[in-house]
Amino acid sequence: MINLYSDTQTAPDAAMRRAMADAEVGDEQAGLDPSVNALCEKAAALLGKERAVFLPSGTMCNAIAILVHCRPGDEIIAHESAHIINHEAGGAAALAGCLVRPLTGERGQFTGEAVHAAIRQPDRHHPRSRLVAVEQTANLGGGSVWPLAELEAVAAAAQEAGLKRHMDGARLLNAVVASGVSAAEFAAPFDSAWIDLSKGLGCPVGAVLAGEAAFIEEAWRWKQRLGGAMRQAGVLAAAGLYALEHNVERLAEDHANARLFADLVADHPALAPTADGIDTNIVFLDYHANGSAAGAGEIVAKAREKGLRLGAVSATRFRVVTHLDVDAEAVRTAARIFRETLDELA
Ligand SMILES: *Cc1c(COP(=O)(O)O)cnc(C)c1O
Repeated sequence: MINLYSDTQTAPDAAMRRAMADAEVGDEQAGLDPSVNALCEKAAALLGKERAVFLPSGTMCNAIAILVHCRPGDEIIAHESAHIINHEAGGAAALAGCLVRPLTGERGQFTGEAVHAAIRQPDRHHPRSRLVAVEQTANLGGGSVWPLAELEAVAAAAQEAGLKRHMDGARLLNAVVASGVSAAEFAAPFDSAWIDLSKGLGCPVGAVLAGEAAFIEEAWRWKQRLGGAMRQAGVLAAAGLYALEHNVERLAEDHANARLFADLVADHPALAPTADGIDTNIVFLDYHANGSAAGAGEIVAKAREKGLRLGAVSATRFRVVTHLDVDAEAVRTAARIFRETLDELA
């Protein structure tokens, strides 16, 4: 099975498993796991922040950042396609008691002016605008890379009005490799930022949230409260350390493979040219079925029978995500299977 459904589908390879097996460990929640401590120091330095905390998932990074930055009744400003709005089971509301104000904009991005316009005037009838959250890269924006200048404009508009700034960096390192801008530069205008280890970096579990010392102190309290404090978590952190050493530069291959897949299928008559560019490892393909033809969901099901897994984000849009378990050869095969399936059903 060639799995282009998501970069979460990677399995740890032999070298990563060896690093995990050899990890030095201790009691993580007592601050005594040397591997976790090393990972947190490395991630904090990478993101240009004072400290970092190791968490089980990116979702918990977002939840904890929101819990630290906001109080019940506060409002978060985010893109309408944001993970925190669509894929975290309403955590911002359920856990933190927050509203999220969705902004529109091309490819999962918005402008500093849009933030400025969305910030509420102080008035006791209004929720209090408290936090601006961005995704770098923007997942449902097609893996788009925010230009640094736009991130700075968004952060400046927020800061001017006293709002906190949060970066969901699930795929920040894809943006770094694609743009040549460092993770620390991208994260600099933000009070908190995190990276996921279990996406393109290929780890089985984990994410690291960074910020200034006082922020991380409070984040630790929530980690404890939510049951995210662990014990001999060094076996997991060792995978993260291995990934930061070996699996970052190679993200460029995933980006090249995403473009390769798009190039190999783009001229199929059932596909509309992708208006959205391909910045990183995510490809959206717009599909026009003629009247009676199968929807994207049926095409995906049929392709799966033929040994290819990909996603349908709607009845007319496919999502393909490249990652370290799929090489260029497999991408060529995947493109052939996809075209064949379209020929049969579209
Ligand atoms: C995957 C993802 C998350 C959540 O990360 P998990 O580790 O799966 O919990 C958050 N934000 C974005 C943009 C993501 O793509």
